[in-house]
Amino acid sequence: MSKIKSVYAREILDSRGNPTIETTIWSDSNHGAVASVPSGASTGRLEAFELRDGDPNRFDGMGVLKACASVNQIVSKYLIGLDPLKQNEIDQILINLDGTANKSKLGANAILSASQACFELGAACAQMPTFEYTTQKYGLATPSALHLPTPIFNMVNGGKHGAGNLDFQEYHCIPSSRKKFSDALEMGSELYHLLKKILTEKKAIHSVGDEGGFAPNLFSNTDAIELLVETIESSKYKLNEDVYLGLDVAASSFYDGGKYKISDVKESMSGTQMGDFLIDLVRKYSLLSVEDPFDQDAWTDWENFTNNIGKQLMVVGDDLLVTNRTRLEESIKRNACNTVLVKPNQIGTISETVSVVKLARKNDMSIIVSHRSGDTDEDFLADFAVGVGADFVKFGAPGRGERVTKYNRLLFIQEYLESLNPQ
Ligand code: PEP
Ligand code: MG
Repeated sequence: MSKIKSVYAREILDSRGNPTIETTIWSDSNHGAVASVPSGASTGRLEAFELRDGDPNRFDGMGVLKACASVNQIVSKYLIGLDPLKQNEIDQILINLDGTANKSKLGANAILSASQACFELGAACAQMPTFEYTTQKYGLATPSALHLPTPIFNMVNGGKHGAGNLDFQEYHCIPSSRKKFSDALEMGSELYHLLKKILTEKKAIHSVGDEGGFAPNLFSNTDAIELLVETIESSKYKLNEDVYLGLDVAASSFYDGGKYKISDVKESMSGTQMGDFLIDLVRKYSLLSVEDPFDQDAWTDWENFTNNIGKQLMVVGDDLLVTNRTRLEESIKRNACNTVLVKPNQIGTISETVSVVKLARKNDMSIIVSHRSGDTDEDFLADFAVGVGADFVKFGAPGRGERVTKYNRLLFIQEYLESLNPQ
């Protein structure tokens, strides 16, 4: 049995240039693992607490030295000597050490960096790729029939991720799930470059937003969808056959005083009016998924929407569920949505993340494993997604290092699996 020998956290920068925490753990068998933690911009109200220093003299208060100290001065003492294969035990120790409901004492960023580094160390000690270790550990996917999740490419960035005037946060191209992952990635890349060309021809802004998608100035959210339609129609791919459209509305970010105000409609809309507006979009464009169509606490609007149209598309809970088992239980009771967005840093440990995936699976919900808008150049989520048998991954645009490292890891896993089962 290997034992944890050392645990060390330090401050690095994420893709937005903000500090984040990276933890390195070594075993006495000389295996090592490094885990860094991403950060959201459009965060759900009930996400686990991201501990930042608040010291205006460093990084505008965004430093994470306190989170590093949580790991170096507290967590490390309790983890050294433990078996890295005992993930549940390790995560329970982390949860108990913190002792708060939202991990605000040590910081969920500190806790996740330790939890994930232990998990990856476990894989290294078991001498398995992380995706295989995940599968064997949790039994969520059949080892002999592992499949690659379908990528959801974020092509246009609006809301809190874009520089422009779009209210909705993400406009997705989603390749048909029938396509092999490498073909889906090729398609994503080709459409991404075609979209850039079209924006350039239109003399529209083609700089990119936080997740690598383009952030143009357009008149309305519908215009952004039309732009993707135009892109696909001028490509060799067929809309709603080879590739589908989806949205992350991220409606909590423009919900104000019980109303939704978007550039497509003159007057502010009630939840019912917002639902009707979105249902028209779903029907007109045959949207495959709509994430966070309503505010995170507007349960009744979610229920009505899912009851009305949920059989036709994925209604995805991100801010609604915050990868939190209690929120997911509530959502299942109410039939508020049919798909879970899984972001480990919303909850703070690997074990709790897996428990959400298990509950979602048990209730026949679809699973999307997702990055954050501020992310790091690590590929753990690709392995995790394959290992838990996720249906989809959302790793941003097929461009920018911190996004493509995850897509590239899926390419590697595809080839690895093919080499085990040559045709
Ligand atoms: C999202 O809302 O799905 C997302 C990835 O953005 P963020 O990380 O800013 O929450
Ligand atoms: Mg979202």
